[in-house]
Amino acid sequence: VGVLVDPVQRFVNFARVAQEGLPGFTRFMQIMDLQPEIADAPHATPLTGVRGRIEFRDVSFAYAEDGEHVLRGLNLRVQPGETVALVGPSGAGKSTLCALIPRFYEVTAGSILIDGHDVRDVTLASLRRQIGVVPQDVYLFAGSVADNIRYGRPDATDAEVEAAARRAHAHDFIRALPLGYDTEVGQRGVMLSGGQRQRLSLARAFLTDPPILLLDEATSALDTGSERAVQAALETLRGHRTQLVIAHRLSTVRTADRIVVLTEDGIVEDGTHAQLLARGGAYAQLYDSGQAV
Ligand code: ATP
Repeated sequence: VGVLVDPVQRFVNFARVAQEGLPGFTRFMQIMDLQPEIADAPHATPLTGVRGRIEFRDVSFAYAEDGEHVLRGLNLRVQPGETVALVGPSGAGKSTLCALIPRFYEVTAGSILIDGHDVRDVTLASLRRQIGVVPQDVYLFAGSVADNIRYGRPDATDAEVEAAARRAHAHDFIRALPLGYDTEVGQRGVMLSGGQRQRLSLARAFLTDPPILLLDEATSALDTGSERAVQAALETLRGHRTQLVIAHRLSTVRTADRIVVLTEDGIVEDGTHAQLLARGGAYAQLYDSGQAV
């Protein structure tokens, strides 16, 4: 069965056994099994050769049929290769917006298109193969570092695993572990910091080389090394893939191609750091207050 189960589904199975109380972005990964109605449409075709354009058209979403809408008539376009920082108050719907792209949830109204294809018209497996997801709280399963990186692509060679780790700026800390790539991690293995776990997750995503990457930056303080490393990785890969980052750090936000400010009222601002500062609105206030975004 192993090879037939798509990587995201496997990831979810691992994520499900992780501890309770995971923050937003991880939460939606646990929910997939609870959504039996999300399945391939009868005429779904595989999504291939994706360039990475993402478009939200009048998207509304509520978690429950009679529940409050988290998103209302949202419109957003992200160009191939663009890095967009999503900022806004907790609960505004940033994680939810991201979760709709790989169809972890189904939109209540409107549509989401990737390269012009409605995500409901393509097969789930092919859709999710195009999308790398790096949650805030990464769950590592019992096994070696290499196993944990390789698991999105079990046939990857050692050289490919290492190349992915290098791109994720994880290679140096892995090398410094007692057994390098063979070091056991997970509950019984060595303890890795949040930042190190996130870099492994990034390596995992890079190994499958998806044209779209969704990343939830850690809110908790990372060691400075990890924080810089994650950022450096994202920057190196800028332009090569579409990156949607739920950004909690000003440095990430400042270097993004575009910043989208999401509040309870929807997208209230959209532009570059300079543009939004000049505008003197919500983003400028956030920035002036010196608050972590
Ligand atoms: P944070 O930065 O705190 O993660 P966010 O902007 O990502 O916040 P979401 O996590 O998308 O916001 O949450 C938006 C709203 O949807 C919140 O009111 C939240 O309580 C609600 N919500 C999130 N996940 C679920 C769920 N699985 N079921 C029901 N409601 C949910």
